[in-house]
Amino acid sequence: MTNQPLKINFNSGPAALPLPVLQAASAAVINYNDTGLSILGIPHRGKLFAAILEEAKSLVKELCGLGDDYEVLWMHGGGRLQFAMLPMNFLGDGETAGYIDSGYWAADAISYAKYYGNVAVLASSKEDNYTHLPVWPDAIPKDLAYLHITTNNTIYGTQCHDIPKADVPLIADMSSDIFSRQMDYTNCDAFYAVAQKNIGAAGVTMVAIKKAMLQRIRRTLPPMLSYAAHAQAGSVLNTPPVFAIYTALLMLRWTKEKTIATIEKENNEKANALYQEIERNSLFDGIVSNTADRSKMNVCFTAKQPEHEKAFVNFCEANNVTGIEGHRSVGAFRASLYNAISLADVQQLVALMQEFENLNNK
Ligand SMILES: *Cc1c(COP(=O)(O)O)cnc(C)c1O
Repeated sequence: MTNQPLKINFNSGPAALPLPVLQAASAAVINYNDTGLSILGIPHRGKLFAAILEEAKSLVKELCGLGDDYEVLWMHGGGRLQFAMLPMNFLGDGETAGYIDSGYWAADAISYAKYYGNVAVLASSKEDNYTHLPVWPDAIPKDLAYLHITTNNTIYGTQCHDIPKADVPLIADMSSDIFSRQMDYTNCDAFYAVAQKNIGAAGVTMVAIKKAMLQRIRRTLPPMLSYAAHAQAGSVLNTPPVFAIYTALLMLRWTKEKTIATIEKENNEKANALYQEIERNSLFDGIVSNTADRSKMNVCFTAKQPEHEKAFVNFCEANNVTGIEGHRSVGAFRASLYNAISLADVQQLVALMQEFENLNNK
């Protein structure tokens, strides 16, 4: 059964959330846990919010298998502020950071790093319009300040299926596939994810960072831009996005209850169902050239006949299925199959693709 409220929503982010999470978040806006207070009006330094922060932090650690050597932070500013803060904190003048250029967000992270130091792009698939993952160099230079990767390329629909090990601090943008599968998060010295895909509502970014990294900050920074200051203040350096963090907690509870193992199994089934239909259907083609690199979160595809692009989007909209238009830099279609999307939701899209094929092959 679909667990979405009205339409089936394949948007890439902000994206669909499970109905029980939306219901609990809505109820808390009126009366949080029978306190007689709206979640929107509780003090950010009070006991109620301290408990929310504590539970959210421990759930992130539990779901990712992190020990006490990691700090979990909740921050403003989305992915882009992380793109800036990482080099601000960890790339000293004259130092070089390594980046893997696997797509739009990876390239944006590179452009931000260049404000603060040298960037070595160790691998890129830009020349092929990112239709596959870049091929890594045989060796990663050992003198890099850190290595930055993007585990899932939301816009181009490719995904690294394992987190590599590196001899230099490894930092990963996991915005669009965190909690989507079991993986060794502890290979990363830091990883971050904006909430609006698999963690909840826009307005907050989860950052998990090894405490040892906080000793390696290269600049004197204003507190709002320093990971150490955020860690020391327990994510309440200033007024944090209380409601977004509470929504993240609801989503973390949902994730724990479902288990990442079950989520991973369903994500495999969902992606298989859609990729199989794209291959079978005479009207559509996949975009990712190397099938091993295909993302299980963002499925990008195109219509063989250009006039079918708008027509299929309209057909979906008329049937209560929304959000399948591709990003402006890739075009055609993208269906985002984040954790909140059920197999039944995907089967509904597959059924529409089949119906559309029948209608157009008459
Ligand atoms: C969505 C996304 C971001 C988003 O960043 P914002 O600045 O919050 O819009 C960053 N990285 C990846 C991989 C994403 O999918």
